[in-house]
Amino acid sequence: MKGDSSAGLSEQSERLRGLLPRYAGAVRPWHFTIDVDWVPGSEVGLEGLLEFCDRWNLKATIFVAGRFAEAYAPLIRECGRRGHEIGTHGWEHGGLEHDEDFRSASYARQRDWIRLATEAVENASGVRPVVFRAPSLWIGETTVRALEDEGYQYDSSVPARRFDCGFGRVHYLKYFRAPTEPYRLSSSHLCLRGRSAIIEMAPSAFLFPINMATLRVLGLPVMKWMVRRIVRRSPRLVFYCHPYEFVSAHQQTFPHNMSTWNMQGMSPKNFSLLHAFVEHMVLRGHESSLFADSLSGAPGSAYDACERSGATAIDPLNGPVTALAGSDIAESRVGTHLFRSRG
Ligand SMILES: [Zn+2]
Repeated sequence: MKGDSSAGLSEQSERLRGLLPRYAGAVRPWHFTIDVDWVPGSEVGLEGLLEFCDRWNLKATIFVAGRFAEAYAPLIRECGRRGHEIGTHGWEHGGLEHDEDFRSASYARQRDWIRLATEAVENASGVRPVVFRAPSLWIGETTVRALEDEGYQYDSSVPARRFDCGFGRVHYLKYFRAPTEPYRLSSSHLCLRGRSAIIEMAPSAFLFPINMATLRVLGLPVMKWMVRRIVRRSPRLVFYCHPYEFVSAHQQTFPHNMSTWNMQGMSPKNFSLLHAFVEHMVLRGHESSLFADSLSGAPGSAYDACERSGATAIDPLNGPVTALAGSDIAESRVGTHLFRSRG
């Protein structure tokens, strides 16, 4: 049964791609990403997402909380076997009443969380992860140093252009005007382009995030409109969803602080919504790609975009942030503070 439907959808995917000549030369990369929180019961959702990806020939970037990787090691290994890219997503994030907060934790604490998660994911998958997404997108400048020191290459946590208005967990404006195209992070301010080893791939947003929760709450027509608005300025799109969104809430174990509206919307039926969204993306000429592919340096790759870019970013709350052209010294003025840093 699975074989039949997979074949059907793969054919459909190919047929849809056949309708694309009008977008020839304008293929737009998008990143289909999955955040695997430490939620027992959600492994069923991850299995479903792996099948979904196979049907659409999607390669995903999968961020896994360390404890999940430890508990479901064979499933994480299977993710790698199917060609997906595996990163880390905190240590116990998803199962805690007071979540890991990378905005405020000390360097030593953050490094511990990253190290534990890295080891758990490496033990499960056999591959050392180099991509990171902070729990709840709560990231700080200290995180950049900790990631560099643990050998990471990519981050996808800076919530540029996002403000949840109380629905989700991102209602702070500090990083609202951070670049939306890939850029090298600076350890003095996350809105600054710097010369750290870490390339930022911001999760896409147009006030609300381009994720499964927005799709569930605001619906497909609004998501389509948001995607159109975003790609006008920046052709690369980063979407994310959680395995727990595709499993009924009563079959999973959540901490008490999980919001009621979120739990009520969890259902296997969400796969049909996701199907409609992916179909739309394929028809619009978006082609899924892995973060690691962007290391190729090919024209149009994230690495290329990141190395070419010299534009500056503005912090709306604290004033302009400037990188000095032609110098390896980056200078940033944030409010009354002047930061000078090499790169
Ligand atoms: Zn998460």
